[in-house]
Amino acid sequence: MNGVADRLYTIRFKVDETSHLVIDDQQTCLACKTKECTHFCPADVYDWHEVEKMTSVAFENCIECGTCRIGCPEHNISWVYPKGGHGITYKFG
Ligand code: SF4
Ligand code: SF4
Repeated sequence: MNGVADRLYTIRFKVDETSHLVIDDQQTCLACKTKECTHFCPADVYDWHEVEKMTSVAFENCIECGTCRIGCPEHNISWVYPKGGHGITYKFG
C-alpha cells in the first residue's frame, strides 16, 4: 500500500532566518515571577536561563498557535507574522 501518507496532510516547514517572536524587555522577564511562557507554549519555545538572567526564544520550533500573544502577563512578547512563504503551512491532498 503506497501513498497513504500522501493522501493525509503533510506539514511543510521552512525556518525563517529572523525571529517572528521578540522579547521586548529582558528586565521585565527578570522581574516576572511566574515565567508563564515556559509553561504555556506547546512547542517549548521559551526557556528561562537563570545564569544569564534571560528568556531565550527558540523561534524555529514555533507552530504558530498564537498563545504567547495573550499568554504573557506582562505583554512582553511581540508577535509578528512570518514573512510570506515562511513559517508552517498545512497542505491537504
Ligand atoms: S511570561 Fe512574559 S515577562 Fe514572564 S518570563 Fe515569559 S516573556 Fe518574560
Ligand atoms: S505561537 Fe504558540 S508555539 Fe509559537 S511561541 Fe507562541 S505559544 Fe509557542
